[in-house]
Amino acid sequence: MLTIPQNPADGVAAVRERITVAALAAGRDPATVTLVGVAKSQPLDRVRSALDAGLADLGENYLQEASAHFEALPDRSFRRHFIGALQTNKTREAARLFDWVHTVDRIRIAERLSAQRPESMQPLAVCLQVHLGDESTKSGVAPAGLAALAGAVAELPRLRLRGLMSLPPEEKDPARQRRWFAQLRQLLEGLNTTGHRLDALSMGMSGDFEAAIAEGATHVRIGTAVFGAR
Ligand SMILES: *Cc1c(COP(=O)(O)O)cnc(C)c1O
Repeated sequence: MLTIPQNPADGVAAVRERITVAALAAGRDPATVTLVGVAKSQPLDRVRSALDAGLADLGENYLQEASAHFEALPDRSFRRHFIGALQTNKTREAARLFDWVHTVDRIRIAERLSAQRPESMQPLAVCLQVHLGDESTKSGVAPAGLAALAGAVAELPRLRLRGLMSLPPEEKDPARQRRWFAQLRQLLEGLNTTGHRLDALSMGMSGDFEAAIAEGATHVRIGTAVFGAR
């Protein structure tokens, strides 16, 4: 269900409460679900309010907007997640700005991020974006290519492969929505049976995060329900 908060402080509190309820219903510890507040197209004062309300993870789609947000908030400590489409000519900036990149979908991007990650920083945490369904507008590696990509990314010295991310097709029926999330979880479990030790499932947005938590989401990426309409 999509609810629009009065202000980001209410949004953070309401979404946290819903995360807790959904996690407990799934027999999970709510602390295993990280709320990534998606700041795209949001004014700085809303971002600041959400951080003041305890938001600890910020998601950004656009590098320019991200660096404007980060430069304006030098005194705040929060984890920085890149969740947008990444072109090869932007990897250097991404490698320097973020703690996590959720949208790695080809080896060339991963190699550049690894080579360009500053030595002074921790290895960059990455998720592989998987293309579920057949919508041509969405990016991601096809499930058939996932094992090869994961194997190659895991070898890169300055990246730490953490898990999988997806933006599955939107379904009106929550049970059908949940099936896409189950599919991503099964792909992760499949990789782990071949020697990977992946622990992150980045899935679920404002309209469907409870279904994602039921299927094991560890990172829910929430814009509208935290910050209000864009
Ligand atoms: C915008 C966006 C979100 C958040 O969407 P809402 O529906 O506003 O919660 C999550 N993930 C990605 C990749 C996005 O681009």
